[in-house]
Amino acid sequence: MEYKNVGRSGLQVSVAGLGCNNFGMRCDKDQSAAVVHKALELGINLFDTADIYGGGGKSEEFLGAALGDRRQNVAIATKFVGPMGEGPLNKGASRRYVMRAVEASLRRLGTDWIDLYQVHFPDPATPIEETQRALDDLVRQGKVRYIGCSNFAGWQVVEAQWTARTHQLTPFISAQNEYSLLDRRVERELVPACNAYGLGVLPYFPLASGFLSGKYRPGEPPPQGTRLALWGARGQALLSERNFAVLEKLTAFAQARERGVLDVAIGWLAGQAHVASVIAGATSPEQVDQNARAAQWRMTAEELAEVDKLTKKGEG
Ligand code: NAP
Repeated sequence: MEYKNVGRSGLQVSVAGLGCNNFGMRCDKDQSAAVVHKALELGINLFDTADIYGGGGKSEEFLGAALGDRRQNVAIATKFVGPMGEGPLNKGASRRYVMRAVEASLRRLGTDWIDLYQVHFPDPATPIEETQRALDDLVRQGKVRYIGCSNFAGWQVVEAQWTARTHQLTPFISAQNEYSLLDRRVERELVPACNAYGLGVLPYFPLASGFLSGKYRPGEPPPQGTRLALWGARGQALLSERNFAVLEKLTAFAQARERGVLDVAIGWLAGQAHVASVIAGATSPEQVDQNARAAQWRMTAEELAEVDKLTKKGEG
């Protein structure tokens, strides 16, 4: 397994990470543990979750239980902002809420510290300086090691890093945003901002929710039990003519190299200098195994450029 620094921080994470949003939803406690144990076996050391995943904090609970005493060998990334209860005081990025949210996450994860604590999405009701001061306090208290943002626009990253510099607060080291060969919008504004301000990118939906695994066929209903079958209309939207056209081109590229399309989807992201770790989600140990192998494919500069060309048009 290859390890990369997250942005300009000293935190080294596996280029294949594990997204844990299936835990508590698609995966029960035992299935979640099987997925986590396979990831550990493969050298994966970054586990991404959030307080809201799985409903009522189940993803954090299942992850913490599965890691057990191996927790000290991995980096846990979690998030806050999404609603964990009724009313305005049980969500968001205010100092009041952050201080409570971190305690609840620590308890569910069964740990004394969070390696990467991420603002799940911008909270328009809270000034960013208030959030950053609260997060800086958590770093100083030792409850949190590093902080990151998620779903921020490029200008919001710049605003946050300037606020940190101006007030000598802990800066963000990562930006987690939607990013895949089907959706490259982050490359316009966010990636340049991350490069300039030292943040590593953690792409979410790297497989476009499984579409880029190649298991969906044009004109056929999604296979039973898959995410897109369970998502109904939302899943159907991904099964578009444009997406199948891109998939066909990527499949031909992969086959010419005796690879699968999933290898291209993950391998290409892993080959981008600004990407720290590809945190694909998985519902079985077999999927984790495939995804970890794909992240270790080092494409040549020519291959990266060819995939770039195949997917650049009509981005987003
Ligand atoms: P994803 O990685 O694009 O897709 C994951 C899904 O693809 C799996 O649940 C599985 O679905 C299918 N899959 C994975 N590996 C496969 C394989 N080898 N072969 C066939 N199918 C495979 O999407 P994601 O898991 O939602 O996103 C990754 C992580 O990003 C999440 O787990 C979460 O930690 C994070 N995330 C963050 C945000 C945010 O707002 N910050 C939003 C979304 C996600 P099935 O087996 O069910 O078909």
